[in-house]
Amino acid sequence: MKNLLRLHLLLICTLLFCACAAPSKRAALTAQTAAKGQIDSSALTRAPEPQSQDPQAKRRPKDVTVRVLLAEKQKSASIKHTGKVYIYTLNLDKKYKISAPGTLSVKALGGGKIQVGTLQSDKTIVLEPAVNTLLVWNKNSYSGKIFIIPAGNAFHLVEHAPLETYLYGVLPYEMSYSWPLEALKAQAVAARTYTLKTLENVKNQNFDVFSDVRSQMYKGGGKQYDSVKKAVDETRGEVLTYEDKLFYTYYHANCGGATDDVRSWNPSAVSIKPLSGASCKTDSHSTSYKWQMNISRAKVENYAKSVGLPGSLKSIKISRKTDTGRATNLTIRTSKGSKTVPCGKFRLATGIRSCKITKLSVRKNDVHFEGKGYGHGIGMCQDGANGMAQDGKNYKKILKNYYPGSEIKNISDYYGI
Ligand SMILES: [Zn+2]
Repeated sequence: MKNLLRLHLLLICTLLFCACAAPSKRAALTAQTAAKGQIDSSALTRAPEPQSQDPQAKRRPKDVTVRVLLAEKQKSASIKHTGKVYIYTLNLDKKYKISAPGTLSVKALGGGKIQVGTLQSDKTIVLEPAVNTLLVWNKNSYSGKIFIIPAGNAFHLVEHAPLETYLYGVLPYEMSYSWPLEALKAQAVAARTYTLKTLENVKNQNFDVFSDVRSQMYKGGGKQYDSVKKAVDETRGEVLTYEDKLFYTYYHANCGGATDDVRSWNPSAVSIKPLSGASCKTDSHSTSYKWQMNISRAKVENYAKSVGLPGSLKSIKISRKTDTGRATNLTIRTSKGSKTVPCGKFRLATGIRSCKITKLSVRKNDVHFEGKGYGHGIGMCQDGANGMAQDGKNYKKILKNYYPGSEIKNISDYYGI
């Protein structure tokens, strides 16, 4: 093991020496790509670069960079590279490359310092895979640059991925890749729009989106499913707008026959026509359409306690619901009093599948729920999109149904270039 380590270090040192000793064209290229990395870290790169006059180029707009938080406050990480990789600090005062496949060890050294392979720095270190090289971390493959950002005694991992590549890594984890192409295309447009809308409101200086349900699920754009790639490529650059603006194209697993106005889920949201609810006649084939669940009394009582209502559970009633039957408020009564809570928050805390509750009874040890749908019920119903595609509807029809009044635009048109 020790010998192997020595050999590995020797290899890295040799390569480091070669890279530094011969400031050749390749080194210049490294510097150039590194400089790009520097620009990427700025928010300015979010708008696509101007397009050429070639009409083909207009239909294939350049990518926007999406900065995805892969991990926060890590102490160590192992990142495999399947081929050549460039390693450099953002200000380029230290750089080297490794040409052969291998594994890089990333460590937090404390005091704001990090080490990647043999390179130590108190500044962000970038791993840039060469073309055809993938970076593998936590079993997921990434083709974008990974920024290792020091954060006190730890570091963050942030991938800078081109938008379309990012979508390759979102779609299969938000919708089954085996579903019909037109459903996947609808999902691609919805996910692309949701991402770009999120980029308009970024609050963190280091990243734009999370890689989990706080944004959209993402497991790297390196593993590409043919169906997903086709769906993303055939809708390249297409987004949904309403009154010439992007909007949050929410989506969910199953609406239980009809979607609802966004305010039923988030009372402070601004309601617009595409998020005001739609009928859905094609989602009843799914096992998510109807459900029943038993939630322990303890879980409900813990939730009640967390919102300031202690005591033992006496009853739960739907105190307000939408026309489609989705509960917006529930009133919980315990031995200590009663409180009305938003059903959306109750759903997330207890794990009931949706707020479209059709039956509810407090029993000796648990609360029995029956209901329809899975998720918040706003925007596109994925099971319904699948059903529409199976009925021969194309992605434009699907999107028009679930986001009524919206228009499909190309991002090059949207950005006015
Ligand atoms: Zn539906």
